[in-house]
Amino acid sequence: MKNFSWQLPSKIYFGNGESKKVADRVNELGGSKVLLVTDRGLEQIGLPDQIKTMLLDASIEVEVFNEVKPDPTVEVVESGVKKAKDFGCDTLIGLGGGSSIDTAKAIGMMITNGGEVSDYWGNPPKNKPLPMIAIPTTAGTGSEVTFVTVIKDTKKKVKMGVGYSPQMAPDIALCDPELTVSAPSHITAFTGLDALTHAVEAYTNTKHDPVSDIFALKSIELIGKYLRLAVANGDNMEARYYMLLGNLLAGASFANKLLGIVHAITSPMGGYCDAPHGAVNAILLPHAMKFNYIGNPEKFADVAEAMGENVVGMTDLEAAQQSIIAVQQLSRDVNLPSGLSKVGVKEEDIEDICNAAMSNVNIAINPRKPGVEDLIAICKAAM
Ligand code: NAD
Repeated sequence: MKNFSWQLPSKIYFGNGESKKVADRVNELGGSKVLLVTDRGLEQIGLPDQIKTMLLDASIEVEVFNEVKPDPTVEVVESGVKKAKDFGCDTLIGLGGGSSIDTAKAIGMMITNGGEVSDYWGNPPKNKPLPMIAIPTTAGTGSEVTFVTVIKDTKKKVKMGVGYSPQMAPDIALCDPELTVSAPSHITAFTGLDALTHAVEAYTNTKHDPVSDIFALKSIELIGKYLRLAVANGDNMEARYYMLLGNLLAGASFANKLLGIVHAITSPMGGYCDAPHGAVNAILLPHAMKFNYIGNPEKFADVAEAMGENVVGMTDLEAAQQSIIAVQQLSRDVNLPSGLSKVGVKEEDIEDICNAAMSNVNIAINPRKPGVEDLIAICKAAM
């Protein structure tokens, strides 16, 4: 019965075909010059063009910034800021996975605040970023509603959590499951497991509250039920709908209540390798759960039940162990690579990564207090 506060500043539009009303959403924000931030992969399948045409048809000026790459860097943000200033845009749209949405969030923050991106690593900006609409095309990061943008500093070898304040949340999250249908099965798998990692960490950490519990547990249930279906058959619309919803609920939950040791580790780990973010999280997740479950067996037992495990007659400890088995089985079913070494993490970097991880904000709220040697053991077991 703890006291808590909770907020979800983004206005959410959710459902099939919602992206077709993008011009209405820009008008709702009072915008007339839009910078559409996206990546070349999505350009190849025509999604940015569709959005651009709808905006032009509504007499809204639009330019496309297509330089986003997975794990966007400070340099990409700087290039986007220049393009936004040259064009004089008044509204941003982030169209894509977390990388495009995060880049748009960072551009909007830099335009109204100035300075260096790293000035806002773990710090809130003074001024509200430019008005922004996030249109997710993956069901993974929840960035369309979160209070942070993740930007890589390649020189410092770290992925920085930048902004950390509710005003970083996009004004509008325009969530259209139809836009996720084109995601190939491996991206569907990695991103879906990323969302699961968010939900499990937000549900089990010590900062959780009754509202984040409801969001996170429902998210775990939806991902447990629908991820295999979305991976097996990308145009299963029911699976796409509930995966995007599961991802949204996980994002809302961790935006408010943060995460745990998986994200403490992957924040520096992402600076050392170019592995897909979701894959690295997901490979670490069951190893982190093995370390964590004795810190709060009841919560991990709930995770097992939400994932559809039959825990009738089990003690909390037994059911908690079952949650690890359920996550491992799901990861195997959707073909997650079996270890960190398979996605480019090098054994010789582990100690530096774990030393850096110890100063991450998620360490203090992890369900079990870790030392650096624990993090090293988790990473080595996950290799
Ligand atoms: P991504 O945005 O990096 O995209 C990965 C690839 O998938 C790209 O090549 C892209 O073109 C392709 N793709 C995306 N949607 C597609 C579609 N519908 N059809 C075909 N191809 C598609 O992937 P992501 O996992 O969504 O985002 C990862 C980034 O998000 C990382 O940088 C991570 O750190 C960040 N992140 C941010 C937050 C946050 O709250 N801000 C949370 C978690 C992760």
